[in-house]
Amino acid sequence: MVAMGAGNLSGRRQVALSVVVPCYNEIDSIDELYKRVSDACQKQVGSAYEIVLVNDGSTDATRNAIVEMAANDPHVVGVDLARNYGHQIALSAGLEFCVGNRILILDADLQDPPELLAALMAKMDEGFDVVYGQRQGREGESWFKLATASLFYRLLRKMVEIDIAADAGDFRLMNRRALDHLNAMPERYRFIRGMVSWIGLRQTAFSYQRQRRFAGATHYPLRKMVMLAVDAMTSFSVAPLRFASHLGMAFGVLGLMALGYTIFSWAAGSVLPGWTSLAAIILILGSVQLLVLGIFGEYLGRMYMEAKRRPLYIVNEIISGEMPKGQNLDIRDLQSRLKEAMRA
Ligand code: UDP
Ligand code: MG
Repeated sequence: MVAMGAGNLSGRRQVALSVVVPCYNEIDSIDELYKRVSDACQKQVGSAYEIVLVNDGSTDATRNAIVEMAANDPHVVGVDLARNYGHQIALSAGLEFCVGNRILILDADLQDPPELLAALMAKMDEGFDVVYGQRQGREGESWFKLATASLFYRLLRKMVEIDIAADAGDFRLMNRRALDHLNAMPERYRFIRGMVSWIGLRQTAFSYQRQRRFAGATHYPLRKMVMLAVDAMTSFSVAPLRFASHLGMAFGVLGLMALGYTIFSWAAGSVLPGWTSLAAIILILGSVQLLVLGIFGEYLGRMYMEAKRRPLYIVNEIISGEMPKGQNLDIRDLQSRLKEAMRA
């Protein structure tokens, strides 16, 4: 067997390193990404690497770029998802598909420099299962994003029992043992950096400067950031539920005190005025009840979605240069061929 690249399906099992990159409308960064990642990989592991580019339903030419790269370079393999599933799901697809002994997670916008691979590998050689990047500083991000991100990580760390590192993104190097554990987690609401922390094993941080986006704009507007934050908190903690019951208890005590007061004023004979206080009580109790219901609803909805047990994502096709032109392999076909290769 000569080439160890990803395109060579029967040789895929032998790659030392997989680089997994979720890509959503990254046409302006992807060429530069490919160059810098290939460089970094070749320096580290020669040709025993694969670059898994997950196309998360891009609406620009990202997919075409991946097809072209895969046709010219057997190290590149594309996982083309059936639609846009979001960053964490796209990343999960790539992580399930990759086969390397070590796995590097990168963003397509080059905010996490691929050149750090050498340092990450060296750190892993010391015997760690996971080496995660911890942002020392971030260039080119708004003070608002920095402040909300920092608040979020600090709040999350207070709420959950496991040690989720502050200021760590998904940029990390994992070994196969850690990744197999991650891949075995079936949940739909995925906060991957937290799930990796949850695994345990030997993990260590690696400080770096997060770079400016190479091109384009973030795909994490405030709305998506809030969604990710709620997913993270509900996936790793029932603290909001506990908060709801504590709130209920506190208002129960207040209610009892108010009841004492009403009985007292009834006995004292001064009962008629009081529209303002009555309205205030109703409004406050009403909003507290709705808040508590809302917290329940967040958990209930997630249980409902999880209970459906749908697949996390659908793969449209696997893009690999080994495929004859114009004919792309179906994922099921690919999986059965992989299994055969492993049995042999
Ligand atoms: N991404 C994705 N699907 C999405 C949104 C983003 O695959 O629906 C990818 C995106 O291409 C990038 C990574 O996820 O590689 C991180 O996204 P982004 O840079 O927009 O987030 P930020 O770094 O601003 O938090
Ligand atoms: Mg980014």
